[in-house]
Amino acid sequence: MSKSGLSKAIGDLPGVSSEKEWTNSLERGRRPGPRMNEHVVIPDKCGVSTKAVHSGTYEDPTVGSVGTPIFQNSTFLFSEHTYEAFFQGISRDAPIYTRYGNPSQWSVQEKISSLEGAESSLVFASGMAAISTTLLALTNKGGHIVSAYDVYGGTYNLLHHDMHQLGREVSFVDSTSFEDIKNAVKDNTQVLFFETLSNPLLKSIPLKTIADYCKENRILLIVDNTFLSPYCCRPLDYGVDIVVHSCTKYMNGHSDLTAGCISGSRKYVDRIWDQMLRFGGHLEPFSCFLLERGLKTLALRMEKHVSNAKAVAEFLNNHPKVKNVYHPLTNDVSGKYINEYTENENFGGLVSFEVSDDEAGLKLLNELKLPAAATSLGGLESLVSMPYNTSHSTLTLNQRKSIGINPGLVRLSVGIEDLGDILNDLDAGLSAI
Ligand SMILES: *Cc1c(COP(=O)(O)O)cnc(C)c1O
Repeated sequence: MSKSGLSKAIGDLPGVSSEKEWTNSLERGRRPGPRMNEHVVIPDKCGVSTKAVHSGTYEDPTVGSVGTPIFQNSTFLFSEHTYEAFFQGISRDAPIYTRYGNPSQWSVQEKISSLEGAESSLVFASGMAAISTTLLALTNKGGHIVSAYDVYGGTYNLLHHDMHQLGREVSFVDSTSFEDIKNAVKDNTQVLFFETLSNPLLKSIPLKTIADYCKENRILLIVDNTFLSPYCCRPLDYGVDIVVHSCTKYMNGHSDLTAGCISGSRKYVDRIWDQMLRFGGHLEPFSCFLLERGLKTLALRMEKHVSNAKAVAEFLNNHPKVKNVYHPLTNDVSGKYINEYTENENFGGLVSFEVSDDEAGLKLLNELKLPAAATSLGGLESLVSMPYNTSHSTLTLNQRKSIGINPGLVRLSVGIEDLGDILNDLDAGLSAI
């Protein structure tokens, strides 16, 4: 429609006489949120535990419940506020329909925003829903994405199998090499996607250098911070545009839920919200309640995961049955950049290590009593798995070798059990192989 045509159409609206008057009558702006008056907002200067406990709580004015009620409903009564939100084009900020937004989602989103230092966040039904929705929202047909060849398996499969069908081209690089990353960037590169700590070798990345480069070249930088959690690292503070989590892991921390989230500026999160409306991967209210509850103890849990994992890494590093130990304290690739984006040696709770071969690894998994043999990570309980028959089972021996996954590699998600019990169990298990 031509400009004059638009003026004319607007001029025809009741009570509106010109284009100028119409645009002037919009009061919307990019405000943090969504949040309602009832949602608790904690200032950024407060500590991480205060934010984890209080931020986003819905203070129910009707019965005075302590803690957020569960808004287990799919739709909300229309009100003046709803109609105004439609008129202003800010329907993300009004309770209308649960796929669009729900106070239970806003509570947990506010908590995550406060922990990540973000203007806005969104919660999804899984980490993969968060990642796929975000990548499709922030790229378009003909665009190009650069990522690492050893990103999380689900992410790799999305990038490798689906993106080209959707007209996005993808290059995979060694995420520890800024040279490699830079060489892969082309005129049509729209997004760089990396992990703050990789699976299963816990590689760190030159995050600050990548973020500066992205700003200079107007490329969006998305990072998956699942292995560190906002307790250990706040990527937005270092110039990252969007941070993603599989909340199934440390964010929820109790292995009883799948969820995902993204955080960033309101401008980008609004775009991703729009995509989410069409793909439908929002988090339903009861899971929001579980995730909000899990997040309240994030700082307490992470403190213990971090200290236990450090002690386990040092114990394994001195054990005669163990070859390489992959942890920032014991491995150069892991440790290379991580101090640039974490403080106080908050390295998360994962440790990977090698025993003599895959057979010995399997025997170890059988011998261990405390860590359960299962995939996933970041729960209260210790979990142990071997990449060769789980996350990386579709790769040949040579492909695994080329990405550094040697025979006998074991990944341990160190739980919050008593350290002495974990070490005794590992010692007994290793003695038996
Ligand atoms: C588990 C995981 C995902 C996927 O999350 P889901 O909640 O399982 O969909 C993405 N990235 C990383 C690093 C993960 O560990």
